[in-house]
Order: sequence, then C-alpha cells, then structure tokens
Amino acid sequence: MKLTVLGCMGGYPVKGTGTSAYLYESRGQKILIDCGSNALSELSKYIRPADLDAALLSHLHSDHFSDMLNLRYLLKVEGRTLDVYLPKEQTPEYELLAACPNLALHAYSDGDTVLGGVTVRAAPAIHSREGVSISVDDGAVRLVYSGDTALNDNLSKLCEGADLLLCNCGIPAKYLTGHYLMSVEEGAALARLAGASLIVTHINARRSPKSAVAALIKKYPSDKIILAKKGLTVEI
Ligand SMILES: [Zn+2]
Repeated sequence: MKLTVLGCMGGYPVKGTGTSAYLYESRGQKILIDCGSNALSELSKYIRPADLDAALLSHLHSDHFSDMLNLRYLLKVEGRTLDVYLPKEQTPEYELLAACPNLALHAYSDGDTVLGGVTVRAAPAIHSREGVSISVDDGAVRLVYSGDTALNDNLSKLCEGADLLLCNCGIPAKYLTGHYLMSVEEGAALARLAGASLIVTHINARRSPKSAVAALIKKYPSDKIILAKKGLTVEI
C-alpha cells in the first residue's frame, strides 16, 4: 500500500499546500481520498488523473471536495466516468456533483464495498455536517482515514487492528474549540490504543501541531507519529 499526501491543510490552502487530498494505491487500484483545493494539480505529478479508479469523499465541506469541480471537467474532456463514494445529503454541494454525468455517485453502504482487491468500509463521523471515517484494506495493510470528526466510538472501533491512521487532528488540544474535530493528543492516543502508526493531518494554519507532536514523541517514544506534508509518501 502506498499513500501520497497531495494536500494536508485544514480549512484553506497555505503557501502552495492545498487542503485534504490523498492518493491511495494498492492492488492495481488508484483511489483518491478527499479532493480539496489543488488536489488535481498535485495528483497529476503522480498519475494521470483520468486513470483514477474511484474517489472516496469523507464529507462535502469545501476543503475536502472543492477540486471535484475541476476533476469533473477533466473527466468530461477525457470521456470517462468516475465512481465517487460520499455521504448522501440534500445540499447544493451534493446536487452540484450529482448534476455531472461523468461522476457516478454512490452512497456509502453499511457494509463493505469492494473496489478491485481493496475493501472499503465507512463509519458515521461526528461533525458539523454529514460525514464518515473510512477504512481501506488491501488484505495486508489497513488504513483508517478519520475524516473530520470528534473522537467517537465508531472511529475507535474502526481503528481496532488498523496499521495506519491518517487522522484529521492537526491542532493542539489547547486550541481546539467545539466538538467537531480532534486534537493531536486525541489522535495520538487513538493510534496508540490501536497499535497503529499515525499521520497527523488537516493541519491548522494558525495553530501548528508541530511542537505538540514533538512533545508527544518525547513522552511516548514508541509512538510512530509523522506530521503530514505535501508530497509525503508512506509505503507499507
Ligand atoms: Zn469539515
């Protein structure tokens, strides 16, 4: 399994780094996980975007799906249709995507969805709009992507036995307000409990988690924590 960070900022792009977007590759599948700003430009450094097999969207906040609006045009030009999995909702954002004939939209099922040799499972997130956390399993390595969510039992359960947690926890606890996201400390605790490596992502531009990550590594030397950055590739 190979995971490439195409964008990792939360909320809005900063200095050439776009928002949530990741390329997952395994067993011949090329899957885009979220599609925030600048995703398409970054994706084209690694593969032909028209060669994508599917896209998995965690939710329809603009920092997670905005480049779908550019991708739909590319697909039209290339004459291809892409399977897109996303939470179904009655919103202008959903309708915008549903109106594109080159996007085949699918709601996440309650059970497993098999894409080639890769199994996808979604669990409801706790966020300010409909959203999911996602497990992607190639039979050898299981990745969990938290999406935007508060820490919750669905996510904890999804993480049990996972190898890698890509967690939208890019803010130190002392700055976290509201109940819709996770702190880096919560993300680290979740990964530790699951015995998974952690990629801290959805980086808060004003409240960097960098020193909090350093403090966690000092306190828990056996934790495997990486701070996401554009172009980071993890191969397991
Ligand atoms: Zn969100």
